[in-house]
Amino acid sequence: MKEKEKYLEAGRIAAEVMDEGYREIKEGVKLLDLANYVEKLIYEKGAKPAFPCNISVNSVAAHYSPDAWDETVIKKSDLVKLDLGVHVNGYIADIARSKIVGGNKSDLIKAAEEALENVIEAIKPGVTTSELGEAVEKTIESYGYRPIVNLTGHMLTRWNLHGGITIPNIKTTSGETLKEGQVFAIEPFATDGEGRVVDEPNAIIFRYLQDRPLRIKEAREILKYVKDNYNTLPFAERWIAHLVPRFKLNQALRQLVFTKAIYAYHILREKKRGLVSQAEHTVIVTKNGCEVTTL
Ligand code: MN
Ligand code: MN
Repeated sequence: MKEKEKYLEAGRIAAEVMDEGYREIKEGVKLLDLANYVEKLIYEKGAKPAFPCNISVNSVAAHYSPDAWDETVIKKSDLVKLDLGVHVNGYIADIARSKIVGGNKSDLIKAAEEALENVIEAIKPGVTTSELGEAVEKTIESYGYRPIVNLTGHMLTRWNLHGGITIPNIKTTSGETLKEGQVFAIEPFATDGEGRVVDEPNAIIFRYLQDRPLRIKEAREILKYVKDNYNTLPFAERWIAHLVPRFKLNQALRQLVFTKAIYAYHILREKKRGLVSQAEHTVIVTKNGCEVTTL
């Protein structure tokens, strides 16, 4: 299976980049430098980022990728989630790990990691997404924490990060049945907060949706560029900042979002500002179980 080899190659590269990136999660490191470092490594290894490198800190759960002017520096005791995606000709690997800066692995991190392990153990053809969600929920609750109910794992298909089926972090009333050959990113999130994320007002990650008539010249330029370069996969504001003057960038992006030419991934924060941990691997469902691509 040619496809499988591409998924495995993307997974191997993602795992290597994660090892190197994870080591650089240190006090005093700028988020911007870490994101650029991770993405450069992906290119050096002959692949491309499947989405902007996400570095979400403390109560931010997901969708934070520094913009070109971000001065945020990693501090001691921060809970940092590094989430990165790699693609090889559209075949995607998605991996995430959490770290306490300058500290030992906390129970909150262990809860997410063990939930991930338990899901990987349980995956085989015929298992339902609800059963997998229940495994996440039970594991995280056994640590005294809550799973984040409105974040999910997701099926991966070529050029598509969210291929239809989701893997919940809780037991659900209905569910889909997994089949051999399907590819999934499994990503339990644990929190000491309420167990739900809410949108922040701003977004720094976007995705091309469709061509639209656009009044602003810079918006037209950006749309053409992202369609040509990132296809249907997400892109960072940082990746297009060189195209137009800074004062035009926000205006152009606002028009692109408003006209539904692009989709905005809002930064997601835990509702009660609880700490959030995450663990993620990508797997291929096999005849008797699954194969983790991102090891
Ligand atoms: Mn991810
Ligand atoms: Mn994912």
